[in-house]
Amino acid sequence: MIDNWRDAFVDLAYFAASVLFIVGLKRLSSPASARQGNQLAMVGMLVAVVATLFTRGFENSNYILIIVGIALGGALGYLPARRVKMTAMPQMVAIFNGMGGATAALVSIAEFSHKTDIPGGEAVSIVLGTIIGAVSFTGSAIAFLKLQELMSGRPIVYPNQKPINAALFGGIAVLSLLTLVLYDGNLTLARVLLTLVFVASLVLGALVVVPIGGADMPVVIALLNSATGLAAALTGFVLNNQALVVAGALVGASGTLLTLLMARAMNRKVTNVLFGAFGGGAIASGAAASTGEAKPIREISAEDAAVPLAYAQRVVIVPGYGLAVAQAQHGVRELADMLQERGVDVRYAIHPVAGRMPGHMNVLLAEANVPYDDLYEMDDINDDFAKTDVALVIGANDVTNPAARADTSSPIYGMPILNVDHASQIIVLKRSMKSGFAGIENELFHDPKTTMLFGDAKETINRLIGAVKAA
Ligand code: NDP
Repeated sequence: MIDNWRDAFVDLAYFAASVLFIVGLKRLSSPASARQGNQLAMVGMLVAVVATLFTRGFENSNYILIIVGIALGGALGYLPARRVKMTAMPQMVAIFNGMGGATAALVSIAEFSHKTDIPGGEAVSIVLGTIIGAVSFTGSAIAFLKLQELMSGRPIVYPNQKPINAALFGGIAVLSLLTLVLYDGNLTLARVLLTLVFVASLVLGALVVVPIGGADMPVVIALLNSATGLAAALTGFVLNNQALVVAGALVGASGTLLTLLMARAMNRKVTNVLFGAFGGGAIASGAAASTGEAKPIREISAEDAAVPLAYAQRVVIVPGYGLAVAQAQHGVRELADMLQERGVDVRYAIHPVAGRMPGHMNVLLAEANVPYDDLYEMDDINDDFAKTDVALVIGANDVTNPAARADTSSPIYGMPILNVDHASQIIVLKRSMKSGFAGIENELFHDPKTTMLFGDAKETINRLIGAVKAA
């Protein structure tokens, strides 16, 4: 009787947790409700963890080990999350994601090594959870090392890469089938085979990600994220834990959507990301690549840049990765406020892949309390650049590169960009003439309508604020 009540309580708690995950995820879709969405999902996770402590048979567990695990995991999650810089967020997501993959694989192996009466469906979940979790772990670890610059971010290519990966994949498939065929009669041998599947999958994960260039890494991380979600859902089936199935499915689905969204915003096919080795030869290719002769640019001082801004009717601010590096968001807000007080119409144009992760710019600007209504998605503002007096580009580069529209030989050809070059005047804030993430030159900087204001974006904005005050 007590056990029935206990089961009902756990099921209900898992249901509540699932609802909290779904509502939380929904709320993440708008910057205004994202913080609350995160909090709801956190409560959902707490409910799921507490409910698990009440599941039947849990009283036989080693409580000390569980407490040590929770404390260690909590500290390893909390401390880096508090300290991480916004620009280092992709690698943090990568490493956390890798941990999820490793956990799914290890739980699958552990279940296989202590259970004796395993139904067929559960065995399939165990094998798939092991493969996907292990691939996701080492793939994410390599992505982390590349983005953290602990290993070269360039694609690492070697002869026969694809045949080697294909052979390894084939080997894993054969070993997996053997595991599933043999486990009913010879569980000991099947356990050895599953260990081999695990090791081969670890190698495959690393080999698949090694040839991918740093520029594609955030897309790969989103893809690995969806893989981890799938592995977690499979583990949920093995453990008979509904909350884990739902959470895993949500991560899997949202990771897949994010991958597709990012690939589309960069005009790249997911297969190209995985097998294209972008960033290797990209710098040398394309008409925008340096021809050796210096093209003219027009440099401007903060004082001179302040005048057209202060007397403009319409200004569009285009934030990019450099704004995040410089942490210039508060200064930008102050500058925009000042211009708005002078009657200037100030808006922000947000490119879907500006920065290093989706929503990067929205999060940064929200942190500085920039009103959401002033932020415009690329498609909503692109036609308005032609009616804009000044486009103020702050630490953005690739997302404004007209070569994406016109130069068929450019590696970013076809990527939708912000039509910054249609504005009457363009002021670009960056430190030098160095290229952006794609490693290619930007014709916009040589446009006769463009002036370059060099320096760290935070300092330059502060100088601009002073100059607008005086204008
Ligand atoms: P880019 O990387 O193209 O350019 C950023 C520019 O900021 C650089 O040219 C750099 O020039 C400048 N910069 C760096 N630090 C500072 C600083 N402290 N002060 C002023 N300027 C600075 O960024 P974008 O946002 O334009 O484009 C994003 C790129 O990232 C795209 O190529 C996109 O495909 C890629 N990407 C984005 C993803 C996403 O989800 N957001 C995912 C995958 C890839 P300098 O060194 O001269 O200062």
